Amino acid sequence: YLALSFSTLDLVGHDFGPDSHEVQDVLSHLDVTLGRLFTFLDNRVGRGAYVVAVSADHGVAPIPEQAAKAGLDAGRILTTTISRSVEQALEPVLGAGPHVARVVFTDIYFEPQRSAAILANPAAMKAVREALLSIPGLQHVFTQTEILQPGKDPLRRAIKLSYFPGRSGDVVVVAKPGWIFSTAVALPAANHGTAHPYDQRVPIILMGTRIGRGTYTQAATPADLAPTLASLAGIRMDRAQGRVLNEAVTTR
Ligand SMILES: [Zn+2]
Repeated sequence: YLALSFSTLDLVGHDFGPDSHEVQDVLSHLDVTLGRLFTFLDNRVGRGAYVVAVSADHGVAPIPEQAAKAGLDAGRILTTTISRSVEQALEPVLGAGPHVARVVFTDIYFEPQRSAAILANPAAMKAVREALLSIPGLQHVFTQTEILQPGKDPLRRAIKLSYFPGRSGDVVVVAKPGWIFSTAVALPAANHGTAHPYDQRVPIILMGTRIGRGTYTQAATPADLAPTLASLAGIRMDRAQGRVLNEAVTTR
């Protein structure tokens, strides 16, 4: 089993946006690279004697300025705006700050020695929530307790999957579709990291031994690739998160 990551596209996409000539250029180079890889595998392993699975870990939002120009609701939420708003909201309740240690895109970290008291103070949290929700483009506010509580809400589940208690923020914010978090006026140019469809939907392509020709419309996720490849290799994964993509697998 060999795993390869072609990560240049992500970096170039952040800098120039998904609709740029630069991204087209990277994609055409990537196409050539994949062709060379498959030729190598044909020669070394043998044609039809291996299986390739191609997918992506995320999509991307268009550059907000371009989207806004096209008439869509889009924009940037600066992390400096977030920290200023939270400081201003907490000062009347808790006195002079700083209360915010850092804002890293979606994650807001309170000063470590103050965070427990802030999170346990309903008036403080009400002020924080109201201040955040008044920032243009900011749609949802979640505290760690809200993220970790059990439930089937798809947005909270998505946040919980990448939430690491002790390392993730005390508060996590979600932007409206089309809006991105930026560290400076235009950095990065484009971004991802939301549960909106343009970020969450990715292709899954299977090719090789026992893969049936066709397009399949059943719900599938990249988490299905490990159990599918394991099954093709004759290995059963008892605790797999995904399922075997049987619709795409032939018996021989
Ligand atoms: Zn990225």
